[in-house]
Amino acid sequence: MNHLFADASPDEANAYYTIIGIAYDATTSFRPGTRFGPRAIREVSYNFESYLSFQDVDLQEVLFCDAGDYEPSCLPDVAIDEVEGVISDILAKRKIPIILGGEHSITIGAVRAVQPEWYVVCDAHLDLRDQYRGSPFNHACSTRRIFDAGVKNIIVIGVRTGSQEEYDFAMQLNVYSAGEIQERGITGVLNEISKKIAGKSTYLSIDADVIDCCLTPGLGTPEPFGLSPLDIREVIRNLAPYVVGFDYMEVCPIDSGQTATVAAQLVREFIASHWRYKNRQGTTTN
Ligand code: MN
Ligand code: MN
Repeated sequence: MNHLFADASPDEANAYYTIIGIAYDATTSFRPGTRFGPRAIREVSYNFESYLSFQDVDLQEVLFCDAGDYEPSCLPDVAIDEVEGVISDILAKRKIPIILGGEHSITIGAVRAVQPEWYVVCDAHLDLRDQYRGSPFNHACSTRRIFDAGVKNIIVIGVRTGSQEEYDFAMQLNVYSAGEIQERGITGVLNEISKKIAGKSTYLSIDADVIDCCLTPGLGTPEPFGLSPLDIREVIRNLAPYVVGFDYMEVCPIDSGQTATVAAQLVREFIASHWRYKNRQGTTTN
């Protein structure tokens, strides 16, 4: 079996993007298994046509590589330091990192490496706990640690759960709850977000549980009343031009493949959207 993401090359030298899987779920609080997420996403990526009509991009013509999976230490603080190093190496080679997860704590290391102006995260959860189950590097602390690492411009999309303390802390961030997005529509919200970002460098993190668990049930911490795959596709299409680091985390392949299928297609959407913007070519059809 070919373990690379479909249409990817193992050759990193000429690539613009490097996909890397982080097979890690050591701090899982409810249902384990996101370490198998990267594998499931790659497997289903072979389901799709290489051509994406909306962007008029054929992924066979895009130079991107798949560096395979990295398996970090099971100690959360060590794992995150290791991820920071791995992503720093990718950035030093002037590639845009695309991370497949794996649990959301991994994003802390990636964002520390990328050091973006803005951190935009799509997540059912606030992930603003100062520590959880004995570790400040638990997946429930990812956005809090990123704030502490000095990335203060944070936008959270699709939230619908958190502790009272987390909601208090979130007052200083830009939070668009799932309910607000359902009321206003994702397009209006994204217009507002684009104005806030104003073309500055952005790290975009998708926690798979931002999507309603009734649609994509392969999740470690499922939540109902969420966004749709189409909403997240809009987020990716709109923000891709500013993105300097991207991840799709928390895919736990215990379902019939829905969650990994949506993830694989949205990773492809990111690559095609970014590539099209970068090359400023092609027409738009739908
Ligand atoms: Mn999360
Ligand atoms: Mn979450």
